[in-house]
Amino acid sequence: MPSRPPSHRSAGWRPPEQARRERNGAHDVQRRRDAPWRAWYGLRAWALAREAQLARAPLCERHGARGEIVPATVVNHRRPHRGEWALFIDPANHESVCKPCHDREIQREERASSIGGSRSRSGV
Ligand SMILES: [Zn+2]
Repeated sequence: MPSRPPSHRSAGWRPPEQARRERNGAHDVQRRRDAPWRAWYGLRAWALAREAQLARAPLCERHGARGEIVPATVVNHRRPHRGEWALFIDPANHESVCKPCHDREIQREERASSIGGSRSRSGV
C-alpha cells in the first residue's frame, strides 16, 4: 500500500496560468514595483470601462459642476485606486473629465505625495 497519495505533479509544478504570470512578471519587476497597475491602462477591460464611462457621461464633470460644458476625454478615478483592482475597474469610481482638469488633479496629487502627506495621515 502506498503511504502517500499518488501524484503526477513534480515538486515545481504550477498551474500554467500562474507559471506564465511569474515568467512575465520577472522581466520588469523592478519597473513595476512602484506602479505595477500602470499596465492595467493597456488592458481591454480598461478600454471597455473607459468607453462605457465616456458614453455614459460625455461631458467633463468638473466643468459641469461650474455650469460649463466641456467634452470629457479622460476617465479619472474618484478615489485613487492605488493598485486596487476593484477601485480601478468599478464604474462607480469613474469620473469623466477633460484633460486640463485631469492634469490639474494629477499635479495636485503628486505635489501632495512629494511633500509626504501620506505619512502624516493615518489610514487611507
Ligand atoms: Zn474640465
